[in-house]
Amino acid sequence: MTFRLTLLALLAGSWSCTHAQSTAKPEDTEVWAPEPKVVAPGPPGGGAAPADALLLFDGKNLNEWVSTDNRNAPAAWTVAGGVFTVNKASGNIETKRRFGSYQLHLEWRIPAGISGTGQARGNSGVFLASTGAGDLGYELQILDSYQNKTYVNGMAGSIYKQYAPLANPARPPGEWQTYDIAWTAPTFTAAGALATPARVTVFFNGVLVQNNVALLGPTLYIGAPSYQAHGPTSIKLQAHGDKSEPISFRNIWVRELPAAAK
Ligand code: MG
Repeated sequence: MTFRLTLLALLAGSWSCTHAQSTAKPEDTEVWAPEPKVVAPGPPGGGAAPADALLLFDGKNLNEWVSTDNRNAPAAWTVAGGVFTVNKASGNIETKRRFGSYQLHLEWRIPAGISGTGQARGNSGVFLASTGAGDLGYELQILDSYQNKTYVNGMAGSIYKQYAPLANPARPPGEWQTYDIAWTAPTFTAAGALATPARVTVFFNGVLVQNNVALLGPTLYIGAPSYQAHGPTSIKLQAHGDKSEPISFRNIWVRELPAAAK
């Protein structure tokens, strides 16, 4: 009797799980409240690379980057005037080099007069570890979050669909903004199981927005994330498919960090 009931429960659970997946929508995992408070950031400036940093962009070229979809192809985003700008038609770009844990500094600018609303307004992102082509990886969101409402775990400074930022220090479109990131890569057992999750700390325009949060796995647009074992990975920038004007980047540097002691 007990066995039969258990079997029935298992079958019912299996059916409802399959059914739920087939009807899942992006909106299912959007969170809209409470909204992080708005914090006025300090003046622009700083961010100079320390002596031990590797320059990933020095204002001149994208020699440290390749196309994500074809790592044998150069990164085809536009370099001009000491900055580079997303070329949406050419897709995501990522670093030639692969990294474990690191400190990363980058600066980005939403163009003045940008159009669009919500997620379709200056959307890009930093995949802190690219785990495959397209958008696979752990995404720190880039978006115009200056008076632009969207779900809070999808605004600038969020770990997309996992953690809303602790505050909203976004500057208006047209101004440069900074991310300073400490990324601790996940570790896996020899059998491929998760040993320690990825962790990330993020300062956005000098304001702490992510405080050593443990990630649930690589970013998913729909559904719940989970880990798959990987080694060192590239850092990837997103060419998002929305119709708003493309954003720009400058002054990107990284400092590799030693693996955590066991
Ligand atoms: Mg994005």
